[in-house]
Amino acid sequence: MSRVAYVNGQYVPHGHATVHIEDRGYQFADGVYEVWSVFDGGMADFDGHMTRLHRSLTELRIDIPMSREALTQVLKETIRRNRVKNGIVYLQVTRGTARRDHPFPPPGTPPSVVVTSRSISPLKTDAIAEKGVAVVTTPDIRWGRCDIKTVGLLPNILAKQIAKDRGAYEAWMVDDMGLVTEGSSTNAWIIDEHGKLRTRDTQANILKGCTRTTLLDILKEEGIELEERAFTVEEAKRAKEAFFTAAGAFVMPAVSIDGVKIGNGKPGPVATRLRELYIERGHRDAI
Ligand code: PLP
Repeated sequence: MSRVAYVNGQYVPHGHATVHIEDRGYQFADGVYEVWSVFDGGMADFDGHMTRLHRSLTELRIDIPMSREALTQVLKETIRRNRVKNGIVYLQVTRGTARRDHPFPPPGTPPSVVVTSRSISPLKTDAIAEKGVAVVTTPDIRWGRCDIKTVGLLPNILAKQIAKDRGAYEAWMVDDMGLVTEGSSTNAWIIDEHGKLRTRDTQANILKGCTRTTLLDILKEEGIELEERAFTVEEAKRAKEAFFTAAGAFVMPAVSIDGVKIGNGKPGPVATRLRELYIERGHRDAI
């Protein structure tokens, strides 16, 4: 089945979908993005991602490209046209196309909007989660506004490649104090050696993950206590469990960090249970 992308008002064959060479996303990484998990053809954590998109655009003073209703329609239509039942839908909004110059383009330059969607086999991700994955650590070399979900992801992709080169699945980035900030495309969590569930607070320079926010709700419902407090790499290595969260990965158990086995080297009961609960909720609430 051929894939379809939405590009600036048109649905086009994925293989022919293009933006101009002077699109500011291409030239300056001057744009933002969102990724929704698709469950049964609907989007999970819909409002959370929409709200964060709005915030990212506002923080960067990029014009809101279209109404929320129109954008929702485009997202749904892209999922439908690609016949995605389970997978992701990706949205990118850049500051538009203009002659290459650092300052913002003239007012009224329309933002560029691209949407793609693809299937991801739940069986495949479940199989990965059942075994758990390896994590490595690497210095966090990013800028001071990691709360904005920009397409400027060079440090993140370098971190992910370090993980891949070392046979791991994800890289956790570490600040100058030796504290884990977050994963290259995920939020990081541990159950520390005292049995406390911990994740870094979002006052720090990290992305406020929508999966993280939903998990906070689930924890409340389940009566599981959470401490929003950063942890060191050493604490993570001594943890009973470790896992990370993101759209697409849901709750993914980590079974080693820098080659050090976490717990008994198998996905822990809490991470496994939280994954089940998150997926259950995804199927229930996706729209
Ligand atoms: N942290 C970073 C750096 C990310 O890139 C992402 C997702 O792409 C996340 C955390 C998780 O965010 P979400 O749960 O909204 O997917």
